[in-house]
Amino acid sequence: METREKGKERKKSTYNNKQDSQNPKKKEEKQKKSSRCPYSRKCGGCQLIDVPYEKQLKEKEKTLKKLLGEFGKIEPIMGMENPDHYRNKVHAVFGIDGRKRPVAGVYEAKSHRVVDVEHCFLENEKATEIIRTIKSLLRSFKIKTYDEDSGYGLLRHVLIRTGKETGQIMVVLVLASPILPSKNNFVKALRKEHPEITTVVLNVNDRATSMVLGEKEQVIYGKGYIEDILCGKRFKISPKSFYQVNPIQTEKLYGTALEFADLTGKETVLDAYCGTGTIGIIAADNAKRVIGVELNKDAVKDAVTNAKINGVKNIEFYHKDAGQFMIQLAEQQENIDVVLMDPPRAGSDEAFLNSVVRLRPNKVVYVSCNPETLARDLKYLTKNGYQVKRMRGCDMFCHTEHCECIVALERK
Ligand code: SAH
Repeated sequence: METREKGKERKKSTYNNKQDSQNPKKKEEKQKKSSRCPYSRKCGGCQLIDVPYEKQLKEKEKTLKKLLGEFGKIEPIMGMENPDHYRNKVHAVFGIDGRKRPVAGVYEAKSHRVVDVEHCFLENEKATEIIRTIKSLLRSFKIKTYDEDSGYGLLRHVLIRTGKETGQIMVVLVLASPILPSKNNFVKALRKEHPEITTVVLNVNDRATSMVLGEKEQVIYGKGYIEDILCGKRFKISPKSFYQVNPIQTEKLYGTALEFADLTGKETVLDAYCGTGTIGIIAADNAKRVIGVELNKDAVKDAVTNAKINGVKNIEFYHKDAGQFMIQLAEQQENIDVVLMDPPRAGSDEAFLNSVVRLRPNKVVYVSCNPETLARDLKYLTKNGYQVKRMRGCDMFCHTEHCECIVALERK
């Protein structure tokens, strides 16, 4: 099931001008007039949109230094040449406006009102266009948007995933009930406008939940997944699998993680929180054996396929909670030389970290999308036999306050 995603969370900016924050109304007026994005205040997705990019990077370095400085030096953050429209995955919630016209975008903070977003500096532009087209087709196909309060209506969300290197595009229509009337004609009309769409999937979410995707799925056009290429390897991505949202920066992120791991070809490597197996598959060329563990069933399936697609034979995947899996490895006194870990925003847990300490790998490379939980977990590891060797930020989420960081640890 689609859960909260790395790096896309609404958060109030901490970079507000002090004077303005004393007068909210004045501030709103000013922002409306001067912001690059007319939706930024209501949407809240790009807290730093009006901060020049170089300054954004400096601010993120400052945050990393504040939270992680006690563990050592932080190398210069890796930024983007062009920080706009990087998101390969775009989500829109559907609703109606005061005049009952369909709107698509984001919920206004603390409400069920949908802000109609026609353009977004974060999103892949083709994906935004497709969402606009879907919005414009609803009337003629008599498709009603879902109303959260009354529970009536059909179309709840649209999710678009794009493969930067392959050009493949997946459209997921999230419905409140399983039947889309005239679905074949709808796909035809949509593909007439956007022939680059390679697959369309219906997803049924009939629950009162903030989760976007429900359990059930039906492929109504194409293969039901897309593929993309990262670091020279091909990856299959299903609607529910995690895949990094900024493909340009992901290559830098993975490249740095592998540089920090410095594999020689002799190591047994654990890829924990492995998603669709990306890091492990890229690492496998330089390792003896790779073991991947991941909680999301669909991601594990994709990981197994991805290993096959890339002809990687020295990797195996397990569908398990990473902490529980590590306890099992520690009990079996398994030999692990390097742990690559990339947990969600909540960070890792004591079960996992305690088992790392028991398994005594020479190196741990920690990829984190939340420096606060990273700091907490580093405290644990550095108190229990590890020392930080290198740390570097990577700007995966430009124009937002979120910051990714890679840390190399070694056993003392
Ligand atoms: N390394 C991957 C995925 C990182 S995102 C990549 O770069 O693409 C974090 C992943 O951790 C998600 O796929 C999520 O499903 C998984 N996850 C979350 N909690 C977990 C847990 N307790 N045990 C194992 N995996 C978990």
